[in-house]
Amino acid sequence: TTFSDLGLPAPILKALAAEGYETPTPIQAGAIPHVLAGRDLLGIAQTGTGKTAAFSLPILGRLSLTDGQPRPRSCRVLVLSPTRELASQIEANIIAYAKFLRFSTTLVFGGVPVGRQIRACARGVDIVVATPGRLIDLINQRALTLEDVEVFVLDEADRMLDLGFMRDIQKIVSMLPRKRQSLFFSATMPPAIAKLASTLLSNPVEVAV
Ligand code: AMP
Repeated sequence: TTFSDLGLPAPILKALAAEGYETPTPIQAGAIPHVLAGRDLLGIAQTGTGKTAAFSLPILGRLSLTDGQPRPRSCRVLVLSPTRELASQIEANIIAYAKFLRFSTTLVFGGVPVGRQIRACARGVDIVVATPGRLIDLINQRALTLEDVEVFVLDEADRMLDLGFMRDIQKIVSMLPRKRQSLFFSATMPPAIAKLASTLLSNPVEVAV
């Protein structure tokens, strides 16, 4: 299998070549065609398996198809991550994959002054990569709304729970539009995670690696 076989558009294939990616990893081969087709996804995968590209590439592919639409007030894609390190890594990957596309991204995480993040969101941004607490702060301050979210990604769900983010996640999910695509990743599937996944996902494709 090649990335081109998976149905990704040319500007993304070009970015992958520039990154030196040659073949899709198993989670990428399993997930990308389904996510491109608009399906929800339950991905059981650890860090190091290529899961970031497994969700980022088809999301960019789908959005590039509808590019040129009027810019929403904010946030077409929301990626939730448990830590600022992971969020930064995800954003850096998305920027590399979107090198030949026109998308704006911003990072939202705590422990740094909020002003710059508020201004970035106010300009309107396509893709927000966030940790839960600061995202809720920004929403409470009316700096950001989730009403235009088309794709929601919950990464490392089991770690989110370990870090005590369950209530924050439920609050965030309650503000998302009902009609959306949802992608859910976890390394493990204890009952609490399986239950959370079942409330978030609609008829998901399951890919375990
Ligand atoms: P992740 O599991 O998303 O944290 O990715 C692990 C590492 O593998 C990251 O440094 C990616 O840039 C890299 N990577 C992901 N997919 C591929 C691929 N198909 N070929 C080469 N490197 C990849």
